Amino acid sequence: MIRRFMLALLVCVLGAWPACRERAERPAQVPRQVHVGMRSRNIRVLILSQVNEFQVRIDGPYVVRNPATGVLGKGSELPWSKVSRSTGDFTVGDRRWTAGTIDIVPEEGTRILISRPEGGKWSSPIAYAGFIRCPRRTATTMNVINVVDIERYVAGVLARELYADFQIETYRAQAVAARTYALWQMATNAHRAYDVRATEASQVYGGIPTGPAARKAYDAVVHTRGIVCTWTSPQGERIFCTYYSSACGGRTQAVSDMLDVEDITPLAGGVQCNYCRIAQRRTSAYRWGPASVSKAELTRRLARRFPSARSIGTVDRIEVASRAKSGRPARIRVIGTNGRQKTLRAEQFRLAAGARVMRSSDCEIVNGPSHIQFTHGKGFGHGVGLCQWGMEGQALLGRQAGQILKFYYPGMHLTRAY
Ligand SMILES: [Zn+2]
Repeated sequence: MIRRFMLALLVCVLGAWPACRERAERPAQVPRQVHVGMRSRNIRVLILSQVNEFQVRIDGPYVVRNPATGVLGKGSELPWSKVSRSTGDFTVGDRRWTAGTIDIVPEEGTRILISRPEGGKWSSPIAYAGFIRCPRRTATTMNVINVVDIERYVAGVLARELYADFQIETYRAQAVAARTYALWQMATNAHRAYDVRATEASQVYGGIPTGPAARKAYDAVVHTRGIVCTWTSPQGERIFCTYYSSACGGRTQAVSDMLDVEDITPLAGGVQCNYCRIAQRRTSAYRWGPASVSKAELTRRLARRFPSARSIGTVDRIEVASRAKSGRPARIRVIGTNGRQKTLRAEQFRLAAGARVMRSSDCEIVNGPSHIQFTHGKGFGHGVGLCQWGMEGQALLGRQAGQILKFYYPGMHLTRAY
C-alpha cells in the first residue's frame, strides 16, 4: 500500500499528471532514501591518461597544492601555462615542485580551461568546474583528473551523450541513469585514483556543458537532483550499475552475456524494444553493415588488447562459439593461421575489433580471404540495460522519464540518494 502511494507520488512528481507538469521546473521530490556509501559528492574523472604535458588557464585566483602537504603556490590568475612532468618533478608555467601529486584549484565558481597536445598543436580548450588533480604515473608522465561535484559531472555527461534536440524526458531519464552509473563506479573504484573515464569506456564527459544541449542538461540535472535507480536486492534496496548503450537493435541483452557477473532483475535483458528504430533517420545505430576489418589489422588489435592472443599468430577466421538467450553471439572463437584458437566474450571481441567497425555483437560474421566482414548488424553498443535511442523514441510518444527507466530496468525503483 505504502509502495503504491509512493509510486503514485513519484509518477506525479515526474510529471505524468497534467497538474504536475505545470510545476515541471521544480526539482522532483522522491520520498525514499538509499545509502549508496558516498564519501564525497565529488567524482574523480580521468580526462587525460599518462601524458607528459598539457596547458591550463584560470581567469581568477587559484592555488597549486600537494594534497599530502598543502599549498605549494598561488596566484591571482593563471594565463595559459604548460603543466609538465620531467625527472619526477611537476612544472606549472615557470615554477617547479617535487611531488607525487599536485592539485590545481581555482577559486570556487571559477572554471579551469584545459588544452592537450594534439598532432603538434594544442587542442581546443575544454572548460571544467571543480579542480584538476595530477597524480604521477612515471617520472615523465601523469594522469589528469577532474575532481568535480557529481551533479555538475552529470550535466557534462548529458550534453555529450545526447543530441541537443532530444526530448527533455530523455534528458531526465539519462540524468538518473548517468548519476546512478557514476555512483556505482564511485563505490566500486574507491581504491583507484579515479572513478570514471571521460570516454565511452565509462560515460562521455566534456566538462562544463556548452551549446544548445546545455540548457536541457541543466534542467534535467536540477529536476532529478540526487535521484537514482535502485532494486530490492536480497540485502535490501541497492543501486546497481545502470548500463546503457546507444541502441539495442530490438531486444536488450542480459548483463551476464556481457560480463562474468550474475544477472539481477533490472539487468536480466530480454526487453523487447522497437523504439530505437527511430535512429534510422539519423545514424546506422539500429541496423548497420556490412563493415569489415582486414585480418592483419584484426590480429594487431586483438594482440594489443589481449597479449595472450599473440599465441594464435595471424587471424585466419572467426566463428560464433556460443549464443546468448537473445540469439546474439555470446562468445567468439578466433582461429589463427597456426591452428591455435582463442575464445572471447563477443563484447570483448567487439571492442578489440573496433566498436565502430563492429557496432554491436548482434551481427553475422563472414570470413573472406583477407578480411572479416560483419553484416546484418542490429543495434549500436553492448545492448545491456537502457537503450538511448529507444528512450528518445518513447519520450517522443509522451512517456515520462520514470516510466522509460522502468521499461529498460524492469523492477527498478526511483530512489533519492541525497
Ligand atoms: Zn532499443
